[in-house]
Amino acid sequence: MRTNNALNAVEMIRCAGKAATAFRAAQHALREAHDEHRAAQAQLNHWNDHVHALGGPDRASPAHSALLAATHELQEAEQKVRKAEARLHRTSATLQGHRPTLNRYPLPRNRARATTVLLDRLADHPVDLMRAADLIIIQTSAGKDSIVAMHRTVTAAKAAGCLHKVRAMHCDLGSAEWPGVRELARRQAERYGIPFLVVTPGGGFLGMVENRGQWPDAKRRLCTSTLKRDPTGPVITTWVAELGLDRQAIVLNVMGVRGAESVSRALKARLALDPRTTSVNRLVLTWNIIHELSEQEVWQEIAANGLEYHPIYDTGLPRLSCVYCVLAGPEWLILATRVCFALELPLPETYAALERRIGHSFKQDFTLNAIIAAARMLDALDRPVTWRRGDALRRHLGPAAADQYLATLTS
Ligand code: SF4
Repeated sequence: MRTNNALNAVEMIRCAGKAATAFRAAQHALREAHDEHRAAQAQLNHWNDHVHALGGPDRASPAHSALLAATHELQEAEQKVRKAEARLHRTSATLQGHRPTLNRYPLPRNRARATTVLLDRLADHPVDLMRAADLIIIQTSAGKDSIVAMHRTVTAAKAAGCLHKVRAMHCDLGSAEWPGVRELARRQAERYGIPFLVVTPGGGFLGMVENRGQWPDAKRRLCTSTLKRDPTGPVITTWVAELGLDRQAIVLNVMGVRGAESVSRALKARLALDPRTTSVNRLVLTWNIIHELSEQEVWQEIAANGLEYHPIYDTGLPRLSCVYCVLAGPEWLILATRVCFALELPLPETYAALERRIGHSFKQDFTLNAIIAAARMLDALDRPVTWRRGDALRRHLGPAAADQYLATLTS
């Protein structure tokens, strides 16, 4: 299968899908136009009968006001009928215009299936995919999965002679994140010599919560959609415009999403069309380049390639997310709070104050106040948490791998 042909087919199927949507809209409009025409015609008939019952339009005079009013209504009804007829013709023509495309891809499930199969095959050939692409964007959070995704992307891009197409983008959520995340993301990109852009959504995470008076939750993850996904579109628009192409650009949007992380992530494809960002001038494909990797394999790749990871993993926290992630369970929120105590970060109090101010509990089942109280208790019973650089690797791969990694980092 030739990569460009497959990409063209994906775009054709997408256009057919759009045509099908437009066709359904035109069908709806046609039905409405029919209804409108019928109603206007009924009005016209009514006023016609009425005028003739009053003696006909020729008898209209200022003295005969009922007839005059009826004649006026009749004229208006005639106009409405003419307009309804024109709309009927327009919608009918639109409908006919969509028929040829529709007949080629009649069923939505066939379109979706064909796209999935084509993209799955393309994902097996990363080098060809990169050669066909015009722009390769790595969305990096600076977390462990992102750095492995970046490493794999850059390795494949070098093999394809496409490193010049690669850029990295990091979305900075401000004070909601652990210290040093943005700087680490920059260093990771600099290691490979790829352009790096930081997107800073106005107000950050805490500003968004303050404005809404509510915390996001698993069902309404406004934090990811508003703060991470939405700012991406304009950046892609700018970068595609800079390419100056006179055809549709192929954009690969690389993410560090792994199937092993959750059921919903397991259901994601390795390569998928992003219909929200795709348009006539860009075909955007989301590329989950490390989708099949386990957590252990991620750490192995980090160790084997001396990739710099954030020290927060050494504390035992499994993710470099916001300090207080709305998706995290109480166990991780308590540990995050204890780490904040150890690092003397003011975040627990900042969040608790915000929670009191908006009167909305951080999680449905418990408040952050309760989390902070539990963290204090554990610190008192046990002792404050401590960690050493390399602890994440010691836990996952053993002490020898950690020592070797630390030696690589410092050499
Ligand atoms: S890390 Fe958690 S809280 Fe932060 S943006 Fe992502 S889902 Fe929202």
